[in-house]
Amino acid sequence: MNIILLGPPGAGKGTQAQMLVTERNMVQLSTGDMLRAARTSGTEMGKIVADVMDRGELVTDEIVIGLIREKLEAGSEGGFIFDGFPRTLAQADALGELLAEVGQSLDKVIELRVDDEVLVDRIVNRAREAVAAGGTARADDNAESLKVRLMEYYKKTSPLIGYYHAKGDLHAVDGLGTIDAVKAEIAALLDA
Ligand code: AMP
Repeated sequence: MNIILLGPPGAGKGTQAQMLVTERNMVQLSTGDMLRAARTSGTEMGKIVADVMDRGELVTDEIVIGLIREKLEAGSEGGFIFDGFPRTLAQADALGELLAEVGQSLDKVIELRVDDEVLVDRIVNRAREAVAAGGTARADDNAESLKVRLMEYYKKTSPLIGYYHAKGDLHAVDGLGTIDAVKAEIAALLDA
């Protein structure tokens, strides 16, 4: 089972993906995590994307498609969860092609629906919690970057909702519920 978790920043994609990894032996492919890892390890690519990420803009399709290609080749027994990818129509097309190349296909696209005000609160909380736990908040978890990230989502990523709806792959869940309620809705879709 290969699925996409689709939704704006703060919708809960990462949280739900992590639970699916633990409970269903799936592999989470988060391009955001991969890009942050590239920055931490100081690779050439990491340096190129740093400013773009901090501003809240999208990095190029070429870079993220390259990251996903490498991971798909490694395979996954329980299936892949695409988290934060695809974010543009070009990435969505590329994903379809990459999956076909490795003899796989996409099973479901799960849209996490949430209101903007909730997103802002969640992101602000995530930053506070990171600091309270003795770490540092993500450089893009601030009001200014969040505004850009939301705009990027509406301009470039939300068209994917129509795209996957037309393909018959789209399933929406209410992302405003508790973590457990959202998890149960996703489980029902996966077990259907
Ligand atoms: P995320 O952790 O998914 O919120 O991603 C953090 C940042 O990484 C985004 O704001 C973008 O700058 C970049 N990024 C992550 N995934 C993608 C993607 N699929 N396409 C373009 N940029 C991405």
